[in-house]
Amino acid sequence: MLPDNILFSVDPANDLTAFLSQKKYSKLIVLTDEHTHAHCYPLISPALPEHSVIEIRSGEEQKNLHTCAQIWKKMTDEALDRHAAMIVLGGGVLGDMGGFCAATYKRGIDFILVPTTLLAQVDASIGGKLGVDFEHLKNHIGVFQQPALTLLYTGFLKTLPEAELRSGFAEVIKHTLISDKEMWETISQRSLHKQDWNALLKHSVAFKAKVTTEDPKEKGLRKILNAGHTIGHAVESYLLGINQRILHGEAIALGLVAEGYISHERGMLNVVDFKDMVDYILGIYGKVKLTEQQIEEASQLTVQDKKNKGNKILCVLQDGIGRARWDCEISIDEVKRALSFYQSLSDIVSI
Ligand code: NAD
Repeated sequence: MLPDNILFSVDPANDLTAFLSQKKYSKLIVLTDEHTHAHCYPLISPALPEHSVIEIRSGEEQKNLHTCAQIWKKMTDEALDRHAAMIVLGGGVLGDMGGFCAATYKRGIDFILVPTTLLAQVDASIGGKLGVDFEHLKNHIGVFQQPALTLLYTGFLKTLPEAELRSGFAEVIKHTLISDKEMWETISQRSLHKQDWNALLKHSVAFKAKVTTEDPKEKGLRKILNAGHTIGHAVESYLLGINQRILHGEAIALGLVAEGYISHERGMLNVVDFKDMVDYILGIYGKVKLTEQQIEEASQLTVQDKKNKGNKILCVLQDGIGRARWDCEISIDEVKRALSFYQSLSDIVSI
């Protein structure tokens, strides 16, 4: 069952107004960036009660304490008291940072997440993790806090750039691969643009909400959500270090293939299922090019992964399609072999 602070909406303006009229907040502030202000704010603003708007620049580079200070300053200038609320209208960057600012302002005021990217809708807005980056360390400072409401509306996706849609879709692929074979079969028979976003959103959100409700602080089950992230994140960080930025979703797609390869090598994923996975993922994401030297160096970064314990590299492996196991110890040699396999694949498979 879905937590009662999650609402799927077909009319976000109306649903927000109904929610706010029950709550009777003393003041309301809306946080946007320039894109969500232009494309999403007009879809909710006419129905909102009196409010002020904070607009910050978009981008992961803004997700830091300096921007938080600007947001807290504006909240203070607007004289928000503890009965005020913030509506965060944006992707995962805004959701994590706006939620963090609200959760810490005067020891915490209510906030309402209105996620506007696919990634934020299926992933970032569910589970209560909030925070900002600190000195190049991602999500280093933060808290766990649930929003008063998460309002999900697929209509926002109409204006989302295709690359962002593709990036978020990697998390949807991940959710189906680790939890639901039938859903995987449904999505993997369709191209990115032929997906039924309402159905996918409901599926992904229900799954993430169930996992994070059962294990809010990532002691066990929640680790399953890190599928694709051990190797994906190592490659993403390595490339960032040499000034080559790839989309987070591209990195996760690569990670799912590479970690799928290790699962296959260990006899946990049969060849037919593995091949289906590889064909579909490469058909959507193509391949990130890595030289042998880069494979060597990126593989070493898996040792730094936050989820490791002691000297062990701990990873999520596929246990067939629709199931996965977490805390599986893998070796750097396995990572290198998996990335070499990934590089050996032919470039684009069309779906
Ligand atoms: P993002 O928030 O940077 O948004 C991507 C871009 O899309 C931005 O330029 C934004 O302005 C624009 N945009 C947003 N909605 C739009 C719309 N409807 N139409 C047009 N443009 C729109 O990126 P993201 O991928 O949503 O989020 C990434 C962040 O999420 C990262 O910081 C990551 O750490 C975080 N995250 C958090 C969790 C969590 O559990 N809290 C989980 C996964 C990711």
